[in-house]
Amino acid sequence: MPPNFALSGRCVTEQHGQGYGRGVDLRELQQVIDDTYGDRDRDRGVAPTVAWLCEEIGELAQAVRKGTPDQIAHEFSDVLAWLATLANQVGVDLTDVVNRYRDGCPKCAALPCAC
Ligand SMILES: [Zn+2]
Repeated sequence: MPPNFALSGRCVTEQHGQGYGRGVDLRELQQVIDDTYGDRDRDRGVAPTVAWLCEEIGELAQAVRKGTPDQIAHEFSDVLAWLATLANQVGVDLTDVVNRYRDGCPKCAALPCAC
């Protein structure tokens, strides 16, 4: 975890109860992240966001290996938040792209996968 985590770290689950409802779908997540961090994210640029996302994935890997369920959940929220930031920065709608997996395997179209 970097020393400036308190300034740059984020936990989506902590945003609940602040006007966006109890559950957040991917499109709402991207909007929440943009409302919360959009100006800062645009100033920072894409490359540092990729670095942050990779760092958070590393923290998730560590939490899955030896963390508590709360720590694992926390790291999932951070990874999702940084993924949403990156998607916002490059103009990707996560709801649209996740639909690729909506009906099962995108390669063989079977559910479960028959590849
Ligand atoms: Zn398949």
